Parts: sequence; C-alpha cells; structure tokens
Amino acid sequence: MKPKTKIQHRIAELRERLLTSTYENEWAFEYCLEHRGFATKNRVICMDCGNKFSTELVSRKRAVCPHCSTKLTIEKTNKRTDKQLAYFTTSEICEEFQVVRNYEVYGDYRVGSKKNTCLREISQFWIHDNGKVEVVARVLHSGWQGNFFSGDLEIRNKYNMKKYDVYPDGIYPKSEFKPKFRKYGINSKLKGLTLFEAMTIIPNESKAETLLKAKMYGLLSLFNNHTNSVYRFWNSIKICIRNKYQVSINNATIWTDYIELLDFFNKDLHNAHYVCPKNLKQAHDKFVLKKQEFDRKVEFELKKKKAIEDQKKFNELKSKYFGISFSDKKIQIKVLESVEEYVKEGEFLHHCLFANSYHLKPNTLVLSARIDDTPIETIEISLEKFKVLQSRGKYNSETEYHNRILKLVNKNMNVFRNIKVA
Ligand SMILES: [Zn+2]
Repeated sequence: MKPKTKIQHRIAELRERLLTSTYENEWAFEYCLEHRGFATKNRVICMDCGNKFSTELVSRKRAVCPHCSTKLTIEKTNKRTDKQLAYFTTSEICEEFQVVRNYEVYGDYRVGSKKNTCLREISQFWIHDNGKVEVVARVLHSGWQGNFFSGDLEIRNKYNMKKYDVYPDGIYPKSEFKPKFRKYGINSKLKGLTLFEAMTIIPNESKAETLLKAKMYGLLSLFNNHTNSVYRFWNSIKICIRNKYQVSINNATIWTDYIELLDFFNKDLHNAHYVCPKNLKQAHDKFVLKKQEFDRKVEFELKKKKAIEDQKKFNELKSKYFGISFSDKKIQIKVLESVEEYVKEGEFLHHCLFANSYHLKPNTLVLSARIDDTPIETIEISLEKFKVLQSRGKYNSETEYHNRILKLVNKNMNVFRNIKVA
C-alpha cells in the first residue's frame, strides 16, 4: 500500500536510514538456529560443517565438532539433511520512532557441505513518540502448512496489525530502546511477550510492568491472550511474586487452569501451599480428576431426578413383567424393575441404557444378566417378536457368557409371551 498520511510519508523517508549490519546476521545464525549433530552407531555428522567424526566424542547428547569447533546437540537419526526456520527481533531508534524489526532465519544443511543460511526481514513496527503505530510488512499468507510471507516490505493496513508480529527465538542483544521503554524494564532480555506487544501493552498495564520487573515471564505471557485471568487471579499472582515462584511460559495457562480449579473447590487462593505447588503438572492433573469426578456426580444426580419423574410412565408400561427371573444356577436373569435400576446398570456397565431412554420404549423390555448379583450383560428383548435384540456387557462388549445368556433367555421366552397374551 502506498503511503497516504503524513506519518506514513515520514516513515517511507526514514526507512532508507534504517541500519543494516552483518553483525546481527551472524548473531542470528549462531544464536537462533540450533547446532545439530546427526549420529548413527558408527559416526556423527556435524550438520554445521558437514564433516563426520567419531561417536566417542559424544557425551550426554552433546559434542564439540573437531572440524569447526561448534558445540552440537546430538540426535540419533539416519537423516542426512535438515532444514530450520527461526525468528528473531531487533529494535532500534530512528528519530521520533522506536522501530521493532522481525526477521526469518533459514538454515539448510546436508552431509558433506557447509551449512547454508540466510535471513529475511518480514515486518517492522514503527512506534511514534506520540504512541501512534504503523506497520511495514510483507504480504502474509495463511496456508495449510502455516503462515508465510511474500512480496515486498510495504506499509500495510493497520487493521489487525498484530498478525504481522512473530514470537522470536531471540532478541538481538544490542537492540536500542528509547528511555520511555527502558524505564518499564523492556530490553533485549524480554520473554513471554514480543517486543511489540510489550511496548504497546506494558505502558498501559501496571500489572504487566510489575511482572516484567519481577522477571515473571511465564505469567507475563498471559497478557498475550489471557489478560482477564491476570486480573481475576492477581492476588494469587502476588503470592507467586512474593515466593519467587516461577511459572514457565509453556505452563502459564496450565497454572491459570489450576487456579480456576482451586477456586471452584473453594481452596484458599492466598495460600502459597495451594498457589505455588512444587509440581504444577501433578497438582493440576489431580484437580482435573477431582473436577471430572464432581461433574460425574452432578450428572448422576440429574439422571436420578429424571428417573423419579419417569418412574410412573415406566410402571404403566412394564409393571406386568416385574418379578420375572430365571437362572441356570450360575447366571441369574431378571427384569429391571425401576428406572433407578436402569441408571445403576448403565453406570456400572458403562453403556447408554438410561441415557437413551430404553426404560420408556413401549415394545421392548430390558433384563439384567448377573452372577452373584453383579451385572454381566444387559439384554433387550422385543415384546412383539419375542427375540433378543441385543445383549451387551461393559462398554458394549460381549462377555465370555454371551452365548450362554442368549440360550438362557431364549429358553425362557415363553414367560414373556404368555404375559403379553394375557
Ligand atoms: Zn563441524
């Protein structure tokens, strides 16, 4: 898009003056791309220089390449080529603007040759001293393989400009920051937010500033998409800060989920014992199970309530079959005589007996096959054709007694036929 406004024309003019140094390229290749060694039983290939060396140099998945002295992370694989894509951000001062610049970094690696690396600038955020922001970027395409950029760096529509931002693998350490950003603690050590996010969010959010100054990068990352959680649980976050309890960036939403569960169960959200668990994942999972159990109980209570409501209709339909039972000594088969029995049978065998309202079907009847009063399979018979429609055990499977149960029911089918006729 061609520059239209005064500020856009100013940016078009200043863009020519932006720094381009090769030093930051070298830093990006070194710091943002991983240095990998691909190892088989017999050799290691340094993917940085393409040369082979002995596996004896590997210790705890690390090695220093004897050819190029690169520190490598060793992976066991037969692969002979590799590709990497990473991102980095630099920031510089350009007259009345703070400029944040995002880059893609590529690495192409193959056995026998030195790595090929290149980088490409993908977006720039121009933040004016007066707070106004413009974006200069390539065209962003969203494809099924993810997002990619093409075309030239141009001034783009400001609507949804966040989409041109990327979370970087590193921020160039010699980046420059205007004093108004430095005073909030925004510098190249930032994590959890992108520089552009930090510069637009932190001046307006004292809570974000507090988290940044406390180096709580994980919780700071919540300002990306979960600002409400920060506000809601701020008192608990203060407990984390006081106890220097670090939540990693990857675990930040797990922590808020966990606090939400604590809140649900009325636990003390000011108590470090709950708020700062030693093993967050374990504590989270424990409360997830507890919540599932709780939900199951609520659902069961609702079912029971419905069962009481359904009981009258059920009696009208089925009471003439109540009391029927027969056995072959080991297996006992009986008619289910109340809706509650349907609920319990369905819960115990984990099938949809009650959920699908089998108790209100006018033309079928449900029987339970039991051994020592423990349900084994549930049988549905037709009251029109007097045959077994289905017989199912736990999770709708068939048990080892399946054929024996069918035989027993068929042998006694006349009991039902006679009642129907009467
Ligand atoms: Zn090497």
